[in-house]
Amino acid sequence: MSFEKLGLVSSILTAIDELGYKKPTPVQTKVIPVALEGRDVMATAQTGTGKTAAYALPILQLLGKKEQKSTTKKAIRALILAPTRELAMQVGKSVEAYGKDMDLTSGMICGGVKLTPQVKKLEKGLDILVATPGRLIEHITAGTANLSKVEILVFDEADRILDMGFWAEVESILALLPKKHQTMLFSVGLTKSVKRLSEISMKKPLKIEINNNGDLAKKVTQTIYVCDKEKKTALLSFMIGSQNWHQVLVFTKTKISADEVGEYLEASGLQTLVLHGDKTHSQRTKALKDFKAGSIRVLVATDIASRGLDIEDLPHVINYELPGEAEDYVHRIGRTGRAGKEGVAISLVCKEEKSVLKDIEKILKYTLKVEFYPGYETSEWIKKEASKNTIKGRIERSKEKKSLSPNSILGMRKKKANDRNAERKATEKKRKDKKGKK
Ligand code: AMP
Repeated sequence: MSFEKLGLVSSILTAIDELGYKKPTPVQTKVIPVALEGRDVMATAQTGTGKTAAYALPILQLLGKKEQKSTTKKAIRALILAPTRELAMQVGKSVEAYGKDMDLTSGMICGGVKLTPQVKKLEKGLDILVATPGRLIEHITAGTANLSKVEILVFDEADRILDMGFWAEVESILALLPKKHQTMLFSVGLTKSVKRLSEISMKKPLKIEINNNGDLAKKVTQTIYVCDKEKKTALLSFMIGSQNWHQVLVFTKTKISADEVGEYLEASGLQTLVLHGDKTHSQRTKALKDFKAGSIRVLVATDIASRGLDIEDLPHVINYELPGEAEDYVHRIGRTGRAGKEGVAISLVCKEEKSVLKDIEKILKYTLKVEFYPGYETSEWIKKEASKNTIKGRIERSKEKKSLSPNSILGMRKKKANDRNAERKATEKKRKDKKGKK
């Protein structure tokens, strides 16, 4: 497949050729033709798959077809929402590069910087606006941004936008758009909230799934250790300590367990910091900086805080708890095995999490090998083993009762054998005595 065959015009083809793009990536092949038809698209794709061009090239082509009259102030005709300043900046630059030979204007606005230069930019008029939701709402409230002429709306990393708590902003933005507009939604995972967003913002979207999970399996060794919930912290600290791991990212499901796990590990002598939504911006920046620099061994993080963590060459990721949304598993373990390196992803799974594990396997489209970490087998398994009439069973039973040591079991065996011997000898003697009397 070539870019020409996707139906792109020459000004765009020249720009992407200059960028060195030889052929479209899978997400571009699937999205571009449909987007050019004006249809809604919903695509699940990881970062780095070429998704920016997948929506930006059709936007440029569609808007380029009907340029606005230069006499009137340019209205925003395409709005691209991105979760973070970093992503918004990156997208802004790409849009500019892709549309460099076109008579369209584009710009980016995000939080954390002064409003005035952005106001000036917006006053001049932009065809394409890349924005973070929070800052866009600020401009709308101030009357410096108007969405009444938007023809195309894009959510880039929709799951992250929603995870970051921008639901209200997104709803307000949707309410301000003209009824008729095209929507393209890109997301790493198909979380419940993303599905909800697609329902309220799209009309029969074409659903596209770019599955990178096969690659993940090649790069990351995934191990599942089934263990009891109450043994997880001990196992975690033992695993990190005994194997002398020095850069471990641990994921928990909640902020509370992140704090608890952090405290436990710290008390076990492992330098640990915790990263979650309740931490201040400076605490989060410091935690990340120290972890990247290798001055702490463990970083315990929740899913929200983990989004966007870009640490190359991270050797170990441990899921202390499986995520609430199965898709986040892929995102979490994708933190290791980056930049062509191999990674190790371990998940500690208790009885209560087995259904999430099944959901994860559905997404991955393969089964994960389940094991016990020696010494941390589940109490269920120990009981089962103990019920068997084998040496192992008796040892397990003895461990449970804590009254008999493995040695005493062997001692008992010897004693029983001796008793049997003695009994046999006594019967033999009795038989001989009887014979003698006769
Ligand atoms: P994205 O997923 O949009 O952030 O793109 C990831 C990287 O891939 C960026 O550096 C793009 O410039 C690059 N890229 C996008 N599409 C192509 C393509 N068809 N061929 C080569 N590189 C590409």
